[in-house]
Amino acid sequence: MLLCDFHIHTTYSDGSVQLSKTVDIFGQAGFDVIAITDHVVNGDNPLGKLAHRFKYSVTSDNFNQYMCHIKEEAKRAYDKYGMLVISGIEITKNHYSIDDSAHILILDIKEFIPACLNYEEIFLRAKRQDALIVACHPHYMTRTMDRDTLYLWKNREKYARYIDAWEIANRDDIFNVVGLEKYPHLANSDFHKPKHLFSWKTLLNCVNDIDSIKQCIRHNKGVAMTLFRN
Ligand code: ZN
Ligand code: ZN
Repeated sequence: MLLCDFHIHTTYSDGSVQLSKTVDIFGQAGFDVIAITDHVVNGDNPLGKLAHRFKYSVTSDNFNQYMCHIKEEAKRAYDKYGMLVISGIEITKNHYSIDDSAHILILDIKEFIPACLNYEEIFLRAKRQDALIVACHPHYMTRTMDRDTLYLWKNREKYARYIDAWEIANRDDIFNVVGLEKYPHLANSDFHKPKHLFSWKTLLNCVNDIDSIKQCIRHNKGVAMTLFRN
């Protein structure tokens, strides 16, 4: 099975490790597939404006550079480690209430999507580019004090039809509710620093190319999770 992590941050947003070093960490650890998913933060409230000020967000201005850099690193990763690197972002809608906040991975993205658009528009733009939509850490986490992201879960009856998979595990947390609803699932590290390598991961039973991986996740057959430890 393919050892995969679809939720990874670099210094393009609030990760502490640069992109090429991140690729080497995962390549040397024997991963088959990773996705780089730096934050694209909503700039429509003071929380988001702060993130933009500290450059904790990919923006429409540097999106092309971000994509080119990932493409370069993807080639290097494939040659050196046989590892597939997928380009992605994490749409980051931060609001003062956890009930209004949501984070969404867009995997195999090609064109920029602003985080201040409404949910339907974000999902439609992602679908138009055949990208995969993943609801991140959809329930209460142990590591966050008051920054949980519950909006999609609380509105799941409205939005589940757009979402290709839900994170059933994020780093050390497991969200039983995703399993109870029998939603398609993934498990990721939400990597921000090297120690986050050791966390929940996804195993996929499919061929290592982008179309097979997307199909495997969408159909959610042959998807397993494993706790990757040192
Ligand atoms: Zn997040
Ligand atoms: Zn994240």
